[in-house]
Amino acid sequence: MTTTAAGAPGQVLHVEDVTPSLRILRVGRPGGLTFAAGQYVKMGLAGLRLGSFSIASAPHETFLEFCIERIAGGRLTPRLFAVGVGDHLEVSDRAKGRLRLHPAARQHLLVGTVTGIAPLRSLVRDALHRGMRTRITVLHGASHHDELPYREEFEDLAAANEHITYRPTISRRGEGRNATWTGATGRVDPLALDVAASMDPDTTHVIATGNSGMVANVRTALGAKGFPVATEAFD
Ligand SMILES: Cc1cc2nc3c(=O)[nH]c(=O)nc-3n(C[C@H](O)[C@H](O)[C@H](O)COP(=O)(O)OP(=O)(O)OC[C@H]3O[C@@H](n4cnc5c(N)ncnc54)[C@H](O)[C@@H]3O)c2cc1C
Repeated sequence: MTTTAAGAPGQVLHVEDVTPSLRILRVGRPGGLTFAAGQYVKMGLAGLRLGSFSIASAPHETFLEFCIERIAGGRLTPRLFAVGVGDHLEVSDRAKGRLRLHPAARQHLLVGTVTGIAPLRSLVRDALHRGMRTRITVLHGASHHDELPYREEFEDLAAANEHITYRPTISRRGEGRNATWTGATGRVDPLALDVAASMDPDTTHVIATGNSGMVANVRTALGAKGFPVATEAFD
């Protein structure tokens, strides 16, 4: 992990490799950028191409944080694994996206796969910053236990805030890479159905982000039960 102090817009301030194909990048925030928690921006390398990346940090923070998955053979993401502290990224100063916590909802069920946790983290950090008391349950799924970025942070947040629950789950139980995992197993979409069974569709708002298959399953299954479901697919 390498870090430098707050820098120029787009300057890489901090790099943390969660796995060889999952990376957290903190960059200097463009002066003109205002955004709401849960939004995304176009980001990439000057002269190459920009991709859509959810902002994992909250609006009140002075930097931007991204959580990036390396797509094998991809035109952009492998290059983002070659940048280091002090390098420059192009970050658009226009944020997009409509994910948000609804002030009227009594509780929120947030469901993400791997990097899908990025906009959910922004929403949760923002809610805590603003003193929002809505009950928030975060379900986080991955194939392997080391592919759950921010897991420790969410576990700490849940331990410190009784209105926040965090439930990670991994789907490839039988693989040696998961041998040390003692937590929940199985895919996150059936877990979402299970957890939602004890929730009231009239007062619960659902958000699903990340893998398009998971997002579609959650939208279809929970939408059919009357839950309002907002989604953002990354692929
Ligand atoms: C609203 C939004 C928010 C996003 N937020 C994030 C984020 O926070 N972190 C993050 O890592 N990614 C995020 N993405 C996905 C990201 O924009 C793309 O994965 C990335 O731009 C792929 O870039 P690439 O040039 O390396 O791959 P490309 O050259 O575009 O694609 C190479 C191949 O990989 C496939 N592919 C592309 N993206 C994915 C994917 N995500 N999963 C599996 N296969 C894929 C393509 O279909 C193509 O076949 C987001 C996407 C959207 C639409």
